[in-house]
Amino acid sequence: MTETKEFRRLKALAKRYARANRIAQHQALDLIAGELDFPSWTKFIAAGKKGWQIATEQMEGLEAFVKRPLPAATFRNGEPETMNRRFIYLEEAEQGMIGDHAYRLQVVLHDVIIAGEGWSIRVPENPGAIPIVETLTDQSGECPVLDPEFLETALRLARDRAAQVRAEISTDWPRRSTKPDLGGVVRHPLSHVESDVWFCVHCNGKITGAQIAQNLWHCPCCGASPLDIFDTPFWCDDGSKSFLPVTADGPADKGKPDFRIVDSRPKLDLNEDKVVLLVRSALLDDATNISEKLGALRAEIRVDDDNGVWIGLEEDLWPEDKDPAQALAVAELLGLEVELETIWSAIPFAWPGLGELTSSTSEYTRIMLDAYEQYGGLPDKKAKAL
Ligand SMILES: [Zn+2]
Repeated sequence: MTETKEFRRLKALAKRYARANRIAQHQALDLIAGELDFPSWTKFIAAGKKGWQIATEQMEGLEAFVKRPLPAATFRNGEPETMNRRFIYLEEAEQGMIGDHAYRLQVVLHDVIIAGEGWSIRVPENPGAIPIVETLTDQSGECPVLDPEFLETALRLARDRAAQVRAEISTDWPRRSTKPDLGGVVRHPLSHVESDVWFCVHCNGKITGAQIAQNLWHCPCCGASPLDIFDTPFWCDDGSKSFLPVTADGPADKGKPDFRIVDSRPKLDLNEDKVVLLVRSALLDDATNISEKLGALRAEIRVDDDNGVWIGLEEDLWPEDKDPAQALAVAELLGLEVELETIWSAIPFAWPGLGELTSSTSEYTRIMLDAYEQYGGLPDKKAKAL
């Protein structure tokens, strides 16, 4: 298949799907291919090269498919009934109160999320991963989750639900996926391959059947999902000799807090680009005509290491005696000292004084074109048009 319109559309759909469901692009591509009854995206491309074409109804079906939330990439091969049950489950977010604070609890892609005003807790599907507590408001302000008692209640609600979700997952999988046989052999819940030793493509961990089953097919070392667990280390040259057995065993060590608090308030990273952007915007505030606007847009602005900002303004586009008051005010707010300088460079249009006659760019363009027509030269195309 060449880069047809349909093909590009499919890639765009996969991208949207990957973003919406927090899965890797290649996984989304495979899922899209799966919807079209191909085992993988690579196989789909191969068929396309041989002339396979997507039907209009199939494309419509896919459009609908990507709009639905994905219960989990890991369940694409599930029974339709199981899938339907999960869709319903996802739609039923629970509402409730802890003390005076309202919360909402829902299951998204097998992770449990409980959230309220200024806080949220995510308990991952992976039993080996610890819950993440996010605080969004000021630490000193209203953030109920910082109260240990509240936190404990919220965590318990989310953990209880996570246990339920994991139980459902186990029920949907083959029995051999969660219970090793006497030889430690377990069955991968997606590929249905059986083995007593498994490999994680992410951390190169070597995992026993019992370990991977207990951890619901997430890598006990790095938390990679079941999609990244394989019975052969096909990506390794030395036949896994360099791989180390994974020792971490599910939930976090005792004694350490079994959750992590993350401050999610937006943080300002005032780098040079952002300072330059603010100062240039302020110069535009200071500009009262087109000449000065062009001067603001073409000004050289540099931030130096000693908390200073250097502004070079073109002589012909900015009056030498005019202080850029707004730019100075912005620099002061940012705690930067200003050094102003006049520079000489090639100006974009002749007769810079024309820009002082108006503050409208279209008006200026008209005057400038007229002047070129009368006293200079216009490009052929433009001259014909006039
Ligand atoms: Zn791993």
